[in-house]
Amino acid sequence: MNKIAIVTGGSRGIGRAIVESLAGKGIKVIANYNKSEEKANELKEKLAKENIIIDIFKADVSKRADVKEMIDFVINKYGKIDILINNAGISQEKMFQDITDEDWDEIIKVNLYSVFSVTQEVIKNMLKNKEGCIINISSIYGINGGSCAVTYSATKAGIDGMTKALAKELGPSNIRVNSIAPGCMDTDMNSYLTEQEWEEIKNETPLQKIGKGIDIAKCVEWLVEDNFTTGQVISINGGLVIT
Ligand code: NAP
Repeated sequence: MNKIAIVTGGSRGIGRAIVESLAGKGIKVIANYNKSEEKANELKEKLAKENIIIDIFKADVSKRADVKEMIDFVINKYGKIDILINNAGISQEKMFQDITDEDWDEIIKVNLYSVFSVTQEVIKNMLKNKEGCIINISSIYGINGGSCAVTYSATKAGIDGMTKALAKELGPSNIRVNSIAPGCMDTDMNSYLTEQEWEEIKNETPLQKIGKGIDIAKCVEWLVEDNFTTGQVISINGGLVIT
């Protein structure tokens, strides 16, 4: 039977590129979305024209009830989950002193709590199967911090911590857990950047370019096929951050 993968936040940006690449490799993909129903439908239809069938599922990953409903749907339909890509995320640019409790709670819920709750629901099945691949999309901001993005940076560092701890706990059950930490990518998340800011980032980046979703999707493809990598934070960033 085909491998079954869930990609959270699969409607746009990096998640969409991951959905396209995994589905193109014959993996049965469930692309989660929350607000972008039209984009999710458009992706499903586009792939169907290439004879690639995916499922799309609306769920707010910051809500446990939505997450449970999504995982139940997948288990009822396919009986197993082999691959989980925790990709959904939001960002915010704000001076630290202006961050409200509401801002903090929202970003923590969508970026960090979601990785906890989705993973917790998914591993029930992976533990039974004694097999699984979990990939968490963090960020270079979790590694070196982002000015005016303290909450976001905290969530991404938290994800990397979770990745390392879970890799140790789940390794004996043959479940691999890794993070991919993207650098600056050409997606809606960065649509607030000006032409000049894009140029500056490009100039600061040793490879002199901005990343695309496909750059992250290639790493996901590799991690899905690999069987000896776990607990790692792999940063795909054009050399912008070298540790
Ligand atoms: P994006 O283009 O803004 O897309 C964000 C995705 O997350 C959308 O599919 C969105 O779905 C989904 N999402 C947001 N809140 C959600 C929720 N509550 N429930 C379910 N889905 C939700 O962002 P992106 O650049 O592709 O980012 C993807 C991941 O990469 C994020 O975790 C981000 O932090 C990380 N990252 C991005 C960059 C970058 O430079 N862009 C750099 C480092 C890390 P809907 O639109 O359907 O709500």
